[in-house]
Amino acid sequence: MRSSLNPIELPESAAEAVRIIRQLNEAGFTAYLAGGCVRDALLGKEPKDFDIATNASPETVREVFGKSRTLAFGASFGVIGVLPSRRSRANSQKHATEVATFRSDGEYTDGRRPDTVDFGDARHDAMRRDFTVNGLFYDPLADQVIDYVGGQADLADGLLRTIGNPEDRFGEDRLRMLRAIRFSASLGFRIDPATEVAIGQHAKAIAIVSEERVGSEMRRLLVAPKAIHGLRSLVRTHLAASVFPELLAIDFESLEKRVALARDDDFRYRLAAILSLVDSPQKSLKALAKSWRLANEEVRSLSSSLRYWPPLLEFNDRPWSETQPIMIDRDFEFILDLASTIAESQAGDGQERGRASIRSVRERTSWPAEKLDPPSLLGGDDFKSMGFPAGPAYSIVLKEIRNAQLDGQILSREEACQFANQAFQRLSKARD
Ligand code: ATP
Ligand code: MG
Repeated sequence: MRSSLNPIELPESAAEAVRIIRQLNEAGFTAYLAGGCVRDALLGKEPKDFDIATNASPETVREVFGKSRTLAFGASFGVIGVLPSRRSRANSQKHATEVATFRSDGEYTDGRRPDTVDFGDARHDAMRRDFTVNGLFYDPLADQVIDYVGGQADLADGLLRTIGNPEDRFGEDRLRMLRAIRFSASLGFRIDPATEVAIGQHAKAIAIVSEERVGSEMRRLLVAPKAIHGLRSLVRTHLAASVFPELLAIDFESLEKRVALARDDDFRYRLAAILSLVDSPQKSLKALAKSWRLANEEVRSLSSSLRYWPPLLEFNDRPWSETQPIMIDRDFEFILDLASTIAESQAGDGQERGRASIRSVRERTSWPAEKLDPPSLLGGDDFKSMGFPAGPAYSIVLKEIRNAQLDGQILSREEACQFANQAFQRLSKARD
C-alpha cells in the first residue's frame, strides 16, 4: 500500500520540528512527527504545523529544552510548547512547536474529553487518536512511518474510518462525528460505512458540543474542496438537524450549483450562497449566528449580502437611489460577490440579465467618489433655519431629497429647498 502514497519529503517548514526530535533523541528519548502532519506529508500536501509525540514526560521535555524555552501548553494533557531556536526564528518559524507525551486516554464521561490521561507508549498514543489516517507517526531520523492502526492503507484508499469501534469512539467524544465529515470533505475521502452508521446513531448527541467547536468545524467544512459531499453527509447522518437545519429544506441541485460557483477562500461566500436559497435568510442567519457562534462582523456582512443581492441583480431596472446605498455599503464587495455568484448560477435569460446588471455595477465602481456618493444638498440644520419644526419628518424629507438628488430630479440647493417646502407641507397635510 505504501507504494501508492508519496514517499515522505519533508518541506523546509519541518526543519524546526526535526531539530526538536533530534535533540530529544540525543537525550535518549523516542520522538516522532504525529497525526495530521504525517497524513498531509504522505498525501504530498504541505502540513499546516508539525506536532511531535514523545516518550519523554512533560517535565523532561521542559528540562531538555530549558524552562525558559518552553511553555506549559496543555499541561494536563502533557503538551509542552517548545519555542523556536534563534536560527529557526530567523527562518520564519514564529510559533512554538507542540510536543506531546505519548498517552492513553482514561474514561470519557462528559462526551467530549477524557476524565484522566495516562502517559504511555507510542502504540497507545496511536490508539487513542480519532481516525486511522490521523493515527500515523513518522520518524524523520530513520525515514520510517510507524503505523499501528492501518492508516497508510486507508490513506492510499481514500477512506476515513475511526480507530477501533466507531460506536465507542463517537460515544467517547461527540465532536469526532463532525470531524469525520469535515475531514472527508477536505481530504475528498469517503467515510467507511460502519463509521457513517455510527455517526447516524449518535447524531443527536452532537448537541453537547460547544458552539465554538461546531462553528469552527462548519467553517472548515464549508471551504473544503468536497464541501457538497460534506453537506450531503450532514443530512444523511442526521447531524444537519442539529448543526445546520436549513439544509433539510434546500434543493440540493441548486445548492450544488451555487456552492460550486462561490469563492472558497472564506466560508462566508459559501454560507451566503447557501442561505440565499432559504425562505427566510435573515432568520436562518440569526439562528446560525448563535449555534456556530459567528462573530458580529461575519453576521453583519452575511446579513447585508443576503439583503442586497436581489436589488443588485436588478441594477439595470432599479432607480439609482435604490442601488447607490448598496454600492457605498462597507460590505459592498461581499454583496457583489454573492450577486455575481447567483447571476452565474442562473440559466438562460436570467443569467443574461444578471450578468448585464453586474457589468453595470462594476462599471460604476470606477466612478470618482464625488460622483458615486455626492455630498448632500441639504441637512437637518438647513431645515431648522428654514423654520420647520424638528421631528420625525426630518429624516423622511432628507431621504426623499437624497433620492431625488441621486435620481437627477433635483440638481441644486435651491431646488432642494423648494422640494423641502413642498414635502413638509405634504407631510403636515397628511397628518391633519
Ligand atoms: P488539521 O489540523 O488539518 O485539522 P489535524 O489532524 O492536525 O488536522 P488536529 O485537530 O490539529 O487535527 O489534531 C491533531 C491530531 O490529534 C489529530 O491528527 C488526531 O490524531 C488527534 N486528535 C485531534 N482531535 C481528536 C479527537 N477529538 N479525538 C481523538 N484524537 C484527536
Ligand atoms: Mg493540526
